[in-house]
Amino acid sequence: MILDLEKLSSDTQLVAADEAVRFDDVDGAENRINCHIELTVRKIAESFFIHADLSGVFTTRCHKCLEPTEHRVETSFEIVVKKASADTGAREVSGDDDLIYLPAGEDQISLDQHIYENLIVNIPMQIFCSDDCKGLCPGCGANLNHEECKCAPESDPRWDALRKLKDTSSE
Ligand SMILES: [Zn+2]
Ligand SMILES: [Zn+2]
Repeated sequence: MILDLEKLSSDTQLVAADEAVRFDDVDGAENRINCHIELTVRKIAESFFIHADLSGVFTTRCHKCLEPTEHRVETSFEIVVKKASADTGAREVSGDDDLIYLPAGEDQISLDQHIYENLIVNIPMQIFCSDDCKGLCPGCGANLNHEECKCAPESDPRWDALRKLKDTSSE
């Protein structure tokens, strides 16, 4: 998302956009977060105070049952953009990620990196389709949420002997 500071008035302004943010999913495949971005920008002198609210949704696979599942990620961040004056040179370096110096003569700033990083840190390593997902049977691979396990019941001669004992004792 490119923000054109030249187009902003000195009052508080809202800027909204929808963007697809690419990221590498846990399986290594490229995925996209459909993200709604709402910026509140306050201009004070040559500084812009930006509060960003991010609301994203993407489809991934449940960590347990591997079925496609939708996941929401909501987060926000704040940055301050300062216009460097002509006499401070082309670029001032700030050690603070949340303070950006815009080189003199430039009015556009990309928020892509901030948006990406703030979404990514809020995606859990393991996403489940529901809190009580039963997952897949490690034996037959059945999705235990809506399938019966197809594994043949294991027959253990020792249990058979015990069962026989039980049957005879209850007669
Ligand atoms: Zn699941
Ligand atoms: Zn099974």
